[in-house]
Amino acid sequence: QKAEWAKLVNEQTTTKDGMHVELAANIGTPKDLEGVINNGAEGIGLYRTEFLYMGRTELPSEEEQFEAYKEVVERMEGKPVVIRTLDIGGDKELPYLDLPKEMNPFLGFRAIRLCLEEKDIFRTQLRALLRASAFGNLKIMFPMIATLDEFRQAKAMLLEEKDKLVADGVTVSEAIEIGMMVEIPSTAVAADLFAKEVDFFSIGTNDLIQYTMAADRMNERVSYLYQPYHPAILRLVKMVVDAAHAEGKWAGMCGEMAGDEVAIPLLLGLGLDEFSMSATSILPARNQLLALSKEELASFSAEMLNLDTADEVEKQVRETFMK
Ligand code: PEP
Ligand code: MG
Repeated sequence: QKAEWAKLVNEQTTTKDGMHVELAANIGTPKDLEGVINNGAEGIGLYRTEFLYMGRTELPSEEEQFEAYKEVVERMEGKPVVIRTLDIGGDKELPYLDLPKEMNPFLGFRAIRLCLEEKDIFRTQLRALLRASAFGNLKIMFPMIATLDEFRQAKAMLLEEKDKLVADGVTVSEAIEIGMMVEIPSTAVAADLFAKEVDFFSIGTNDLIQYTMAADRMNERVSYLYQPYHPAILRLVKMVVDAAHAEGKWAGMCGEMAGDEVAIPLLLGLGLDEFSMSATSILPARNQLLALSKEELASFSAEMLNLDTADEVEKQVRETFMK
């Protein structure tokens, strides 16, 4: 099976009915690039930049960040690279920031909420990203957006930093797409409002499922509620994809669900444009997608939204596609 998959390294991901979807990889550091390239990713769908900030005693400098972002876009040779701005807090702590302990860190001061307040930290990262954009196909995405106002503030700060750099004679790409993670239910439910202002969505199911089901993603006792195939989750995915397409934008997914063999037929049927996953999942996912028809799956997925439980959805997918 491994040998079969290896033949697909340089192939495009085209479904049985001739539709192209993008299979991208999630990375945490430039060191992950080798696996990404060896496994034939068509891009990077999520670069989790928080690892640049973790395991050390002070913030990374603009220069250090610039070097890391530049290395990633250069080595991807023009393929799309979605870089997520700092997503700290919740399960990811930064001891040197000395943030007060919170009762509910997953519902607290984290990610974009922190960046909009700690403006120096955020602007330093934005400048590093803008400078790196000149070296490849870099896209920027903001994590944990809950309201349109947050997206607008983050985007405004990005554009301000861009204008300053350009005024100083620094080369910045004119083609940077600016998108957001959909991982808070408010943004999925109101995706039509966000779709008018973003360039793309990337659905973060790890958090979206946790927040939709009100079940801590780290807590074993409630892990039975962590149900990617629940019709509630599938309906949210549909809302996001439909809202994006209505505005001519694209919608991807960078949560674990995107690389899951049961979820893949459902997501293809719902019209997802980009699937971003760990590098080792790419070739099996490509192999699976080559044999699926997007058009046939559209009606199948629509039916799945009306089943009663996640178990029923899973059973249907397995019986229909995995025998
Ligand atoms: C997600 O929430 O699905 C996601 C991709 O981000 P992280 O796992 O880093 O929270
Ligand atoms: Mg997340």
